[in-house]
Amino acid sequence: MKRTPGLSLIADNLARVRDRLSRAVQRSGRRPEEVGLLGVTKTVPAGHVQEAWDCGLRNFGENKVQEALEKISRLKTSRSMEGAAWHMLGHLQTNKAAKAADVFNMIQSLDSLRLAGFLDKAAKKQGRPLSCLVEVKVSEEPSKTGASPDGLEQFLTELNQFSHLRVEGLMTVAPYFDHPEKTRPFFKRMRALFDRHKRLFQSEHPILSMGMSQDFEVAIEEGATLVRLGTALFGERRAAP
Ligand SMILES: *Cc1c(COP(=O)(O)O)cnc(C)c1O
Repeated sequence: MKRTPGLSLIADNLARVRDRLSRAVQRSGRRPEEVGLLGVTKTVPAGHVQEAWDCGLRNFGENKVQEALEKISRLKTSRSMEGAAWHMLGHLQTNKAAKAADVFNMIQSLDSLRLAGFLDKAAKKQGRPLSCLVEVKVSEEPSKTGASPDGLEQFLTELNQFSHLRVEGLMTVAPYFDHPEKTRPFFKRMRALFDRHKRLFQSEHPILSMGMSQDFEVAIEEGATLVRLGTALFGERRAAP
């Protein structure tokens, strides 16, 4: 089969990523099915998302509700991506909560009780539970969002009051370092929080979402169950408009 050069690049990238991922899994004495791969498609055109789907990728992440809405509806009218799971990764404002609950299969950026209230109400209206991860802020960078590690136990306990939210685990965006090894202490800290609060997650297989293109192998070594890759799969992103 002949592919356009730009698109076959995605197939190559995916093969390379899968290889690195499975080696990291082996190195850490874990099983391959313990670590999921999510393709981050923010700023990536719908055609390239379709190509990744054709190569077998099934989980996708976006960081803006509007962009996701447009992309997903475009993909629905072209070839089918029935069965794809869409994850919301970006900070979510309460006025977009209802739309997000409608579009996404999982919200990974749950970081306040107020947002939880809006999401729960929207999920109730749709008559289905909404899966969420609590985003935790493990670094001091002011630009980062997320719940504080100190109040995590209380936050998770309070989230149990929402009948239509299913809190399945934790997510974090670690600080960026040129050397991925420097990220390790942040992943270690997340893993400890994850283990400590496991009984509060409403899933038989709780999710620890951490690790991006730069540092996903370190994240896997430290216990990530889901890595989120953008540039490693789709190439450098265009600058945000
Ligand atoms: C953009 C983004 C990613 C992917 O980043 P890459 O470095 O391109 O792999 C992962 N997680 C979140 C929350 C993001 O916003």
